[in-house]
Amino acid sequence: MNPPNRIPATHCYTAIHSRIHALSPHATLIAVSKTQPAEYITPLLEAGQRHFGENRVQEAESKWPALRARFAGITLHLIGPLQTNKVKQAVALFDAIHSLDRESLAQALRKEYALQNRQLPLFIQVNTGEEPQKAGIAPAALDDFYHYAAEELGLPVTGLMCIPPAEENPAPHFAWLAHQAARLGLAHLSMGMSGDYETALRLGATHVRIGTALFGERRAVA
Ligand SMILES: *Cc1c(COP(=O)(O)O)cnc(C)c1O
Repeated sequence: MNPPNRIPATHCYTAIHSRIHALSPHATLIAVSKTQPAEYITPLLEAGQRHFGENRVQEAESKWPALRARFAGITLHLIGPLQTNKVKQAVALFDAIHSLDRESLAQALRKEYALQNRQLPLFIQVNTGEEPQKAGIAPAALDDFYHYAAEELGLPVTGLMCIPPAEENPAPHFAWLAHQAARLGLAHLSMGMSGDYETALRLGATHVRIGTALFGERRAVA
């Protein structure tokens, strides 16, 4: 069901786009379109938005091939956990993966990159709040994992990603992640969502992932 009195996504888009530009002119806005049907995504494409984020491979496969047939130049980011049995589909469909978080996934990606001759840039997801229910590499394991993925396997790791604990001030998490990226020589930082993207941009985010502030509340996931 459509929520009543929906604010058109393009209104929010213009405002958010200019706020991001004012804080960080080169940052990339990823419009998180998970659970949103194509009819809500189309107005953003018409307004010129080209980077989108989805968290489920299957859902993305059902929406994006048709949209790509209508709009050129779309970059699709996988921002949710990736199961190894979905790696083949994910590598074929997406253009970047923000959720590299374990050795088995790194191995599966290396194999699939070779098979498909594709090299999607990767963000290592770090569980900065060390929350047991959350995906991501433990902060203490980041260095070893980075060396494994980037050096031993030769994967194109270009950045770090985090989702700070919902109840905490996100700023120390963003600052910590920015420090680690600088230390490892990684150019990209995927951090900041609807509620905290301005803080993230002030602390060096290069990619902000914004859903509800653009589209309104998400539909319940079936
Ligand atoms: C859903 C989601 C977002 C967007 O969250 P909003 O609060 O709706 O902006 C960003 N990042 C990830 C990883 C998500 O799963």
